[in-house]
Amino acid sequence: EVERALEQDTAPGATADGKAVALLANIGTAADAERVATTAAEGVGLFRTEVLFLEASTEPTVEEQTAAYAAALRALPGRKVVVRTLDAGADKPLAFATQPDEENPALGVRGYRLVRTNADLVEHQLEALAAAQAATGEAPWVMAPMIATADEARDFAARARAHGIAKVGVMVEVPSAALRAHEVLREVDFVSLGTNDLAQYTMATDRLRGELADLLDPWQPAVLDLVAATAHAGLETGKPVGVCGESASDPVLALVLVGLGVTSLSMSPGALPAVRYALRRHTSAQCATLAVEALAAPSAAAARAAVVENLDPEV
Ligand code: PEP
Ligand code: MG
Repeated sequence: EVERALEQDTAPGATADGKAVALLANIGTAADAERVATTAAEGVGLFRTEVLFLEASTEPTVEEQTAAYAAALRALPGRKVVVRTLDAGADKPLAFATQPDEENPALGVRGYRLVRTNADLVEHQLEALAAAQAATGEAPWVMAPMIATADEARDFAARARAHGIAKVGVMVEVPSAALRAHEVLREVDFVSLGTNDLAQYTMATDRLRGELADLLDPWQPAVLDLVAATAHAGLETGKPVGVCGESASDPVLALVLVGLGVTSLSMSPGALPAVRYALRRHTSAQCATLAVEALAAPSAAAARAAVVENLDPEV
């Protein structure tokens, strides 16, 4: 019953004192976009386009790509849709984009680094996104994954803008990008924290190794420090900083993220109602206090315990 009540709560994301925090969905296909359309999600914060092409043995044509992107945009008219360019490699191998014999694929030619070996793939994808924008009249926000430097962000922004993309961003999921978030933000309109990879690269821990889950915990103080640094740079530059990693779907951690200055949270759609509810029960000042307590804690477990102790007891 409580769950049904939560499901039917369609208010936009906001804290108790009315500070807006966009609540968005993570998707991988146009069918996912249609499902999101039936929910209260304010849009899509992460469209993992590589999911469309997991089975493809050759590069999909620009026409095929355009059709897929246009279908997703058409499913969500008027709502924000953040499309991520191909994030191939490591845990997301694509037959037509990934080098099969890399010794350290997580540290290799993955994500946006693909431009070094195969710039055409990125150009074709941007061409298809521009065509989908023209066909639907819906303007996607477009971001690149695995950005490590401000130079890479500048390079991507130039390519995307040359194709007529108006809102250009990058993911912050490599520690170097978080440490230099100011310089990265200077090049783009927004960033989105990928806390799955940010934890992997900060803690030097393979994200697929379940037995190391304690190290991959997004509550790890070092990971929270990098989130804080990025959010701080966003506040100073006045540019949006979202989170689209799994951490956004933990209602308790979501409060901390908002307290650190994160402006949107994107997650699997099923997690949205609980996060919406948790936000509504806390003011932005309370979130800021929870964030201070989390940052002061010496371990992931201590951070979570300190925050839980100070939550509204109904959350
Ligand atoms: C992340 O790394 O946190 C992220 C959102 O991207 P993915 O999980 O697709 O790598
Ligand atoms: Mg990632």
